Amino acid sequence: MFRQMVPRQADVIVVGSGMAGLVTALMIEPKWHVLVLTKKGKADSNTNFAQGGIAAAVGNDDAPERHLVDTLRGGAGLCHVDVVKEVVENGPAAVARLYRWGVDFSRSPDGIWDLGREGGHSRRRIVHALDRTGKEIEMTLLSVIKERRNVILLENILVSDIQVDQEYGGCGRVRGVVLLDERGERAMRRTVDSTTAVLATGGAGHVYQFTSNPEIATGDGISLGFRAGVAVCNLEFVQFHPTTFYSPCGESFLISEAVRGEGAKLVLPDGRAFMKNYDSRGELAPRDIVARAIDSEMRAHQIPYVLLDATILDSAYLRRRFPQINEKCLNVGIDFAVEPIPVVPAAHYMCGGLRSDLDGATSVEGLFACGEVAHTGLHGANRLASNSLLEAVVFAERVAKSVNKRLAQISPTEETPETAHHVPPLTGSDDELAVELRGQIRRCMWAGAGIVRSDTGLAGALHELAALKRRVRLLIESHGETRATVELRNMADVAELITRSAAWRKESRGLHYNLDHPGRGDKRWRRDSEILPSRNG
Ligand SMILES: Cc1cc2nc3c(=O)[nH]c(=O)nc-3n(C[C@H](O)[C@H](O)[C@H](O)COP(=O)(O)OP(=O)(O)OC[C@H]3O[C@@H](n4cnc5c(N)ncnc54)[C@H](O)[C@@H]3O)c2cc1C
Repeated sequence: MFRQMVPRQADVIVVGSGMAGLVTALMIEPKWHVLVLTKKGKADSNTNFAQGGIAAAVGNDDAPERHLVDTLRGGAGLCHVDVVKEVVENGPAAVARLYRWGVDFSRSPDGIWDLGREGGHSRRRIVHALDRTGKEIEMTLLSVIKERRNVILLENILVSDIQVDQEYGGCGRVRGVVLLDERGERAMRRTVDSTTAVLATGGAGHVYQFTSNPEIATGDGISLGFRAGVAVCNLEFVQFHPTTFYSPCGESFLISEAVRGEGAKLVLPDGRAFMKNYDSRGELAPRDIVARAIDSEMRAHQIPYVLLDATILDSAYLRRRFPQINEKCLNVGIDFAVEPIPVVPAAHYMCGGLRSDLDGATSVEGLFACGEVAHTGLHGANRLASNSLLEAVVFAERVAKSVNKRLAQISPTEETPETAHHVPPLTGSDDELAVELRGQIRRCMWAGAGIVRSDTGLAGALHELAALKRRVRLLIESHGETRATVELRNMADVAELITRSAAWRKESRGLHYNLDHPGRGDKRWRRDSEILPSRNG
């Protein structure tokens, strides 16, 4: 089978083929040579799993100002108002652009957008494609990008490092990337030169034992960027989605908030509803409140899950509105129109990330970040449902604009000599060790830095993570970089950064809840957390 060569040089390298990476690549001027690298199949991304939709003030009763107010309220005092303003104002245009590219959003019988309702939004403003919005967006963008002659998209290529020219001064300047090309029988380690790189690597749900994210979400971009010299912000704000299908051993999947938006109730096994005991908005309270309420009921009643009851809704409508959830439930033997679904909270979304500005630029010259990997200031301490696809598309456009401007001003990189060599796979006990370490990181994070935290829990997690990081380092020293060891290192880095951020914040705010500091301390803590990389590594 023909396999496209990895070029030695590109005008810009985009890491990741989710919504942020693809929109960036599509909006870079055709005169520039764009190389998109993605570590698994091209559609393996969080984007592909998004169900609910994309928030935008497009309804007749809506306006960007209302969207702004809702987003600020959700963000619990930490949203950057200028960023929120920019994103919500650009929402309608971003949706229109996606539509022009061919995204088939659902419409009501009179031809206007069929808008969904989700927690924290005061209006129906979720533009969606049934409950398969992410898949529809991902597939459409991939089909448009196939036609772009200036874009090469290569699958099964894992970027393991950003090369930075430290002599340049300041925080350094991008020189290229190091990658593992896993397309052949034997993985190859290579470098590609470029003055400009965009990290669009998505989230980090897999550092937690229970997550709604697919396997790619190991926090690679956060670790890559941090090691390259970029600060991270607000990593303590991990969003736990309240309702993923409870599966003690098999694959879990998300039950979209839109199901609650349509009227489904959270109940205990004896049928009692409980959400009104926690918040007057009931099932449509923000996600952190719903996730903590479920966690608290599970602990109080010593039960492994609660139930999401959609049986009160019209069954034909339910199946039509949520075909994907219907299919997934039927696959595990549940007809959600006639019986309740067992659900648990799971790590879902990273509100924090690499510190980047309104143009998506980081402190390292030529290094940009957009999508879930970036911290822009939009979400503050808690992301409002469906604001992340919006952030990904709006910031991808801004990054592309900055890249276009940058490329017009700078001279291309000089090619450096080729440094390709084979990387042996992990085998036998090393392979087992990598799997074991991965599991330990995930369990440690769930127990010590999960939905409800405490000072001792966080200190214990930091202690355990330091030991795990040492073991990961030894494994890499003895065996070198493979996909498994690179992902492990990234997960260990990100787990530690999340836990350090959480231990720093001695209050409870938004998604961060610490039993030892249950109140919100605006005087001292109304600011972003930030961890700066140490210059000597
Ligand atoms: C189940 C689920 C449902 C969701 N529903 C919604 C919703 O309804 N509305 C909403 O707004 N948000 C939703 N979200 C969140 C939203 O989907 C994501 O935040 C968004 O898609 C992120 O897009 P992205 O392009 O930044 O990252 P992703 O879509 O995750 O793409 C990341 C890409 O980077 C690649 N990559 C990662 N590391 C490397 C590496 N080292 N080398 C090379 N490639 C790499 C991955 O393979 C992937 O291609 C949902 C998330 C999940 C998991």
